Amino acid sequence: IIKVDDLQTSFFTHKGEVKAVDGVHFDVPAGKTLGIVGESGSGKSITALSIMRLIEAPGRVKGGSITFNGEDLLAKSEAEMRRIRGNKISMIFQEPMTSLNPVYTIGDQIAESYQIHQGLSKKQALEKALGMLELVGIPSPKARLKAYPHELSGGMRQRAMIAIALACNPELLIADEPTTALDVTIQAQILGLVNDLQKDLGMSMLLITHDLGVVAETCDYVAVMYAGKIVEYADVNTLFANPKHPYTVGLLKSLP
Ligand code: ATP
Ligand code: MG
Repeated sequence: IIKVDDLQTSFFTHKGEVKAVDGVHFDVPAGKTLGIVGESGSGKSITALSIMRLIEAPGRVKGGSITFNGEDLLAKSEAEMRRIRGNKISMIFQEPMTSLNPVYTIGDQIAESYQIHQGLSKKQALEKALGMLELVGIPSPKARLKAYPHELSGGMRQRAMIAIALACNPELLIADEPTTALDVTIQAQILGLVNDLQKDLGMSMLLITHDLGVVAETCDYVAVMYAGKIVEYADVNTLFANPKHPYTVGLLKSLP
């Protein structure tokens, strides 16, 4: 469904060029999950943001190709990208508040997608939004529909973000460390939720995480990033049986 080839994204600062992503390649077949792991600063988020075409100055995608359902994403106009982001590819961002707007209710934010992209009335869209809040397991979903982001707990906010990301019924879900901001028990719940929804809805998924244990449980394929590059790329069983790069070997040793 998506194929990334020799992707290069750099930041151009007064210190010169920083190659945040330097020759990344992978593909995610329809309905499958690719886990991307790697240490902090290795270029995971920048890879995801490059796919979404959300890299801002002083950064720039310098080279390579991103093909989604046979179409070249790097050649799309901003208007076309907005449509794709609203319809086909959703992202759950690493920073919990980047995708929630503090001045709109949770219900309005989920409903917006249904209104814009499916042409539903406000009332119909809010009904769908309620269904979505039920699906992601928010307690008292009816009341939360009218709540503002700051009135929710961290875990509920994360669930609300997942609801927003899923409202457009995406073909590809990119989840960038969707649980880093949460405590351990809630992390497991949210990851379980994302995983179940991915399977139930038949989406393809790119799951960015620090945690190889999560990858083992939820992913079909895994790519290990190190200093902007993919240093290992295999199906999950192969990687666990036979890690090649020293960084992967170290990661596997640290698993309980
Ligand atoms: P983490 O696990 O901490 O989220 P990451 O793998 O997602 O890390 P990225 O956010 O993709 O890391 O960043 C990759 C590199 O890109 C960083 O090491 C940093 O040097 C560079 N970078 C990212 N954003 C900027 C920016 N706005 N300006 C300059 N350099 C940047
Ligand atoms: Mg990141």
